Amino acid sequence: MANIVAIVGRPNVGKSTLFNRLIESRVAITDNMPGVTRDRHYGHAVWTEKYFTVIDTGGYVVGSEDTFEGAIREQVEIAIDESSVVLFVVDTMTGLTDLDKEFANILRRSKKPVFVAANKAETFERHQTAAEFYELGLGDEVFPISGADGSGTGELLDAIVAKF
Ligand code: GDP
Ligand code: MG
Repeated sequence: MANIVAIVGRPNVGKSTLFNRLIESRVAITDNMPGVTRDRHYGHAVWTEKYFTVIDTGGYVVGSEDTFEGAIREQVEIAIDESSVVLFVVDTMTGLTDLDKEFANILRRSKKPVFVAANKAETFERHQTAAEFYELGLGDEVFPISGADGSGTGELLDAIVAKF
C-alpha cells in the first residue's frame, strides 16, 4: 500500500493547521498549477527523502454536535480504508476529553499503526499536559507538538516515516 497518513481527531484540535504544515513544501509548487486550490483534503509531503500522502479527514466533518458520532465513524473509516498510518491529534489546551477516548476506542480496533500527537504544546505547562494522553493507550509514544509553530513535528515525522 502507498504511504498514506490520515489525520484524525475531534474538531478544533488543529488537524488542518498540521496538515497545512506537513504539505507546506509542496503547496508552493501545486498552487501555481491551474485548478489547484489550497482547500483540499489530500496533500503530498516529503520528509527525509520519503514521500507520502496526507489526508485531512476533518474536512469531511459536517459540524453540528449531533453529527459527532457519524463524523467519528466516517473519519475512522477513511483512516482505516485509505491510510497506512493514522495520526491521531489531541489538544493540550483542553486536555483529554471523552470524545478523544471514543476516537481511541475505535482506532484501537483498527490494525493500523497509530501515532498520538499532543498538539498546541507551545508552553511548558501544555507540554507537561501531553503526558495525560498516555492514558489512551495508543501508540508507543505521545508526541508533544505545535502544528502552529512546527515544534516537535520533526520527531513525530521521523517516527512516522520509519514505518514506510
Ligand atoms: P481542526 O478543526 O482540527 O482542523 O483544527 P484547526 O487546524 O482548524 O485549528 C483549530 C483552532 O486551533 C484554530 O483557532 C487554530 O488557530 C488553533 N490551532 C491549531 N493548531 C494550533 C497549535 O499548534 N497551537 C495553538 N496554540 N493553536 C493552534
Ligand atoms: Mg479542519
